[in-house]
Parts: sequence; structure tokens; C-alpha cells
Amino acid sequence: MTLTQALKKHIKNTKTFGDLAAAVGAVETTTRFPVHNPSTGELLAELPDIQAAEVALAIDRADTARQHWAGLTARERSDILWRWHQLIVDHIDDLAAILTCEMGKPLAEAKSEISHAAAYVKWYAEEANRIYGETIPAPSTDRRLLVIKQPVGVVGAITPWNFPASMVARKIAPALAAGCTVVLKPAEQTPLVAGAMFALARVAGFPDGVLNLIYASDGDAVGKALCSNPKVRKISFTGSTEVGRLLMRQCSEQIKRISFELGGNAPFIVFGDADIDDAVEGAIQAKFRNGGQTCVSANRIYVQAGVYHLFSERFAERVRRLQVGDGFKPDSAIGPLIDTHALAKIEVHVDDAVKKGAMVRCGGRRIGATGTFFEPTVITNVVGSMRIAQEETFGPLAPIIRFEDPEQVIREANDTIYGLAAYFYASNLKRVWRVAEALEYGMVGINTGRMSSEAAPFGGVKQSGIGREGSRHGLEDYLEMKYLCIGSL
Ligand code: NAD
Repeated sequence: MTLTQALKKHIKNTKTFGDLAAAVGAVETTTRFPVHNPSTGELLAELPDIQAAEVALAIDRADTARQHWAGLTARERSDILWRWHQLIVDHIDDLAAILTCEMGKPLAEAKSEISHAAAYVKWYAEEANRIYGETIPAPSTDRRLLVIKQPVGVVGAITPWNFPASMVARKIAPALAAGCTVVLKPAEQTPLVAGAMFALARVAGFPDGVLNLIYASDGDAVGKALCSNPKVRKISFTGSTEVGRLLMRQCSEQIKRISFELGGNAPFIVFGDADIDDAVEGAIQAKFRNGGQTCVSANRIYVQAGVYHLFSERFAERVRRLQVGDGFKPDSAIGPLIDTHALAKIEVHVDDAVKKGAMVRCGGRRIGATGTFFEPTVITNVVGSMRIAQEETFGPLAPIIRFEDPEQVIREANDTIYGLAAYFYASNLKRVWRVAEALEYGMVGINTGRMSSEAAPFGGVKQSGIGREGSRHGLEDYLEMKYLCIGSL
């Protein structure tokens, strides 16, 4: 069977898994869980539902492979990563189709995500060759002081459904470049594209046991199995702050290394001196990409009083033109929400805001009986006491809040437990510096609504996470420092 046939079988054959399980290095078991297309409700696949005992087997495999993988030269590891990158690029259409099937996002966005995933693999294929140590000037001539960098060891990685390909690449590529082995559990809603990427990794030539895939419907059980196993030296998690807290407690038992990319509540501030048309386009990007289901989604749009009406009108007008529909239709700009819970949450947020005096400028309702579609929505007259101003909505809902005082808006923007991404539009240079420095966020977009790049450190402060992914900093999170003191020279 060719790889493309295997991938197609992966999504088409709803009952069996056999050949592909072998091809992707997934752990097998007899019980199954279903994966559905959120646009149509169609059953896409039934995958092995791994339990804790089988997680332990995968960890054993990763632990056995650890020394061999870490013992290769950096260039050998880099070469395999390069091959994986090329295979992802070569199969971009298949991978994007799988992603759209299981997650719903428009095909063009799915392709862009696969390119982004490939870019991380390429970046870390290069970075693998640049793991440098240090020599330190010694206090006496008969000694030499050195620092070497070594892989952390077996990494347990857990990823969410909203970027199911790029989150996998963003964790696995630096871990492999550093010389770690990995046990990955993708989100239960979107495991297929992860499986397809693992299938390509097998073809690229990663040795047995280096990459291990856990398909499971019970994140809690897998999380406990990973956190409690002493062979797992680090947990790398992307998902909600709530689950992050739980994992941190579980990791505290063994003082396990952690990197967390968690929830956000991004402010998007439009100052009176901003270019309004640019700000509208930036807000469309920052709010509606992936149907608003991004951790860096503009969750609170603050607009200064002098430009409030102009911005609100142009923004609502632009939002009305966004087409909602099946991700395979070429004109769909927004796909379905991931599931009915997400649909219910956005409805609760709209109702709460309306009851407290907000005004729906466009949208505000679910669409049709099939799939989980919601109209792109703009709400004005929003105040801080409304749930949409306080919680991560994770859907196509844009609340607009009016402000007068630039210093007050900075205080309000920072008044949250989260600190992932913030955005602002302004032209005055003094203001640009003041606001950029004052926002308590890991990432700040200035006159742009989009900032993710494999070359830059992605991550948050406060309860949005610990550590960074991407860039050279992302590699450091998978390395331990060892100090060597050579005496009696
Ligand atoms: P989630 O926390 O419910 O699930 C994420 C992953 O954790 C899934 O694989 C899930 O199966 C697993 N999981 C669930 N319960 C677990 C447990 N008790 N122990 C171990 N693993 C468990 O989050 P989600 O709904 O899939 O994703 C949305 C959230 O992720 C949002 O809050 C979003 O902001 C955040 N997110 C953050 C980033 C970032 O880079 N900071 C990126 C994407 C998403």
C-alpha cells in the first residue's frame, strides 16, 4: 500500500486500523473511539482507545530508543528531520484534506497550517546543528569549566484540537532535534492528521521507538500515566489552563520538567491615532482566523472613543461578508465550531451580554441543524462585567468595548489571569513603546493581527503558560545543562 492510499484508508475506513497502526507506530488495542467530521457529523474513523497499561508500553519503547537516538550525531538527526519536512511538504494536499475533515477549518487555512507545521520541522532540522555548550574562564589555571547540553530524555506531549498539525510539529521537532524521544497524545477530536504526520515520520526514517503515538479518548487517564511514570522526564502540554493546572500538580510529585502553552484572553486595542482600515483587517485576522478558535484570538476589542463608531461600523460591515460553511467549499471563510459544547458556550456568552445591555451588530445565532456552525458575530456596548469580556469565548464572537483614557485601557487589558497575546494599533512612536512595554503578555502584535512564526518565541506569561515554543528558545526547553569541572590539568 502506498502512503497516500494508507492516509486515505485512515480517513475512509471506519472500522479497521491494522495497516496504518503499523505504519504510524501507534500502540494497538481492541477498544475503539469514533472521530467525526464537525461539518457533517459523518463518522470518519474508529481508532484504538489506548488505556494506561498500553501508555506504559509506549513509554518503555521511547525509553529503550533514547540512548540510540541521543547517541546519533546532530547532523544525522537533522538529516531525518529534513526528510520529514520534505515529506510533509510533498503531502500537503492530503494532510490539509484530513485536517479539514476532522477539524472543519477551511481548506486554505488547513494548507497554511500544514505549511506552518513543515516550517517548524525545517527550522529545527537546522537548529539541531547549533546546540552549543560554553567554556567559562576558570578561577585557577589548573582547571577548565565547561557547560554541555544534553537531551532531557523521554518527553510526554499532549496537544489540542484547534491546530492539530502545527502543535504536533511545534513540540516534536525541537524535542527530536535535541535528542529526546517522544510519546504523543493528540486531541481525541483531531487525531487523524497527527497519525498522518507520524506515518510520514516513519517513512523519513526515525528509528523504532523514537516517536510513539497514543490514540485515546480519555485525556485524564493518559495524562496521569505520563505524569506518574518516572521514565518520562518532561511533559509538554498545549491546551486549557484548567488542564495545565492539573498536570502541574501531577508533575510536582516527581519534579518533572514542564512546558505549558495554555489559554488566553487577548486584548486588541485600537487607539485614536491608528489607521482604521488596517485595524479592521487586523481585527478580522486576529479574531476570525480558525473561526475564533485560537489561543491568541482577539477576545476583547477596545476602541478609543473618537474612532469607536467608525471602527465598529466598518468592522461589522466586513464581518457580515464572511461566509460560513463546510471547509471544503472554496468560499467558506469560517468553518464549524469543534463540537456542540463550543456552540452552547458561545450562545451563553451572547445571551449574558445582551441581558446586561450589549447590542448585537451582526450575527448572534447558530446556523442550520447539521454541523456546529455559528454566525460571525459583533457585539458593541460591551462592559467589563460581561462574560465575553472576562472569559475565553473560543468562537467567532467579537466584543467591542469603548475607552477614553489610554492608561486606563492598559490597566484593563492587563486585568486578567492570562498573559498570552495582545495586539494594538497606533501610530505615535512614543505611544507604541509605552504600550508595548506596559502590556503584561508574552507576545504583542503592533499594527498587525497575526504574529506566529517558527523563528519567534511563542508563549505566555501569568496563567497562560511556562516556556516558549519556536525559535532557538524552543529548543532549550528540551535540553538539560550539565556543568563539567576538569581539575588537575
Ligand atoms: P483541553 O485542555 O481540554 O485539551 C487539550 C489536550 O489535553 C487534549 O489532547 C485533551 O485530550 C487533553 N486532556 C484533557 N484533559 C486532560 C487531563 N486531565 N490530563 C491530561 N490531558 C488532558 O483544551 P482544548 O479544548 O483541546 O483546547 C483549547 C484550549 O487550548 C484553549 O484554552 C486554548 O487557548 C488552548 N490553546 C493554547 C495554545 C497556546 O499555544 N498557548 C494553543 C492552542 C490552544
